[in-house]
Amino acid sequence: MKTMALPRRVTSAQGVTIELDDGRRLIDGISSWWCIIHGYNHPELNQAAIDQIQRFAHVMLGGLTHSPAERLAEELVRITPEGLNHVFFSDSGSVGMEVAMKMAMQYWFNQGRTEKRKFVSLKRAYHGDTTGVMSISDGEEGMHALLAKALLPQYSIPAPESMDIESESCQRSLDALKLLLTEKHAELAAFVVEPIMQGAGGFNLYSPEYLREAQKLCREYDVLFIFDEVATGFGRTGKLFAAEHAGVTPDIMVLGKGLTAGYFGLAATIATTKVFDAFYDDSSDKAFMHGPTFMGQAVACSVALKGIEIFQRERYLDNIKNIQRYLENELIGFTGEGVREARVLGAMGVIEVDDPQRLKGFSSYAVEFGVWLRPFERYLYTAPAYIIDEASLAKVVKVMKGWFSR
Ligand code: PMP
Repeated sequence: MKTMALPRRVTSAQGVTIELDDGRRLIDGISSWWCIIHGYNHPELNQAAIDQIQRFAHVMLGGLTHSPAERLAEELVRITPEGLNHVFFSDSGSVGMEVAMKMAMQYWFNQGRTEKRKFVSLKRAYHGDTTGVMSISDGEEGMHALLAKALLPQYSIPAPESMDIESESCQRSLDALKLLLTEKHAELAAFVVEPIMQGAGGFNLYSPEYLREAQKLCREYDVLFIFDEVATGFGRTGKLFAAEHAGVTPDIMVLGKGLTAGYFGLAATIATTKVFDAFYDDSSDKAFMHGPTFMGQAVACSVALKGIEIFQRERYLDNIKNIQRYLENELIGFTGEGVREARVLGAMGVIEVDDPQRLKGFSSYAVEFGVWLRPFERYLYTAPAYIIDEASLAKVVKVMKGWFSR
């Protein structure tokens, strides 16, 4: 708090534009940590929230249920990869991932295999900010590295770092996975990944084929496979879900962020019938004991339903393709002092530099040009709302590139 620049105060936001209290208007190039996928102040989403609030804002989802939660669960089963059939709602991506970890452990406990309670994840992983998921995020270079020694010990393997499955990094990662599974499968509950794109780990893109290979290994060694699609879900990588690039159905998948288009905190942990069946028992001892107060929050569910409807009706995947094409034309091969590489996937573009110091002061520079971007570490990225028009996107990209030719 002592070293950070003071935050800017927002008074209103509309479409891809944020207005500050000094009257300045900024094009938001990162859609509020890439969750405001429909843009701000969307009339239909607003109306969905208002309509539900006027019926009721919330009731507990224990002993009671309601149509928005039920319909959203059905919709998520319909749109997610084949085989993900059972939905558990919670209130943030981190909690959704905690639920996934707990579900994976109990899946084995319910079968009497209580030794299977550890996780393997990738280096560069980021799965949220709560205690359990911190333990499966990168403990050396990740944002919680300081606390690494206080967290549950887990396993990690090198991250794949290339779109080419034959690359050294993909092969090294698969070899490490195989070795670990061979030696430790008896104590492993699950392998957890952000599929195709590791977000906070530096927008690291890797081969879909990797996921297929990893799934084979997980099956062979009886270890669950979990996809954290909190950041990649809802179109960010160019498919509705990143899993689709690989044609892989994980055992458990987690959604957040774009699920409510940034309107409310809501996450969904979605499991296959195989996982569900381990809990569905004559003995209540096998039940999944997790009862978050805001589980299946009715307004959040109503907005999520409307968001999915708009996503499909407005053919957002086409918009994302156009965004990708534009970003590729502008960024791929971009060179500048200190630029290591520019990468693009779906509605995400990043310029990676060699030293975080090179990006110091960038946010203020961008604000001067009417753009909101907030790089972290060595990564200057854009992940705009899918409704962004080409002129606004051009302005965002111009500011990103312009920084290197000041
Ligand atoms: N997993 C990934 C891949 C994320 O990017 C995030 C977002 N920070 C989370 C989990 C945690 O989500 P939330 O911020 O909603 O807790």
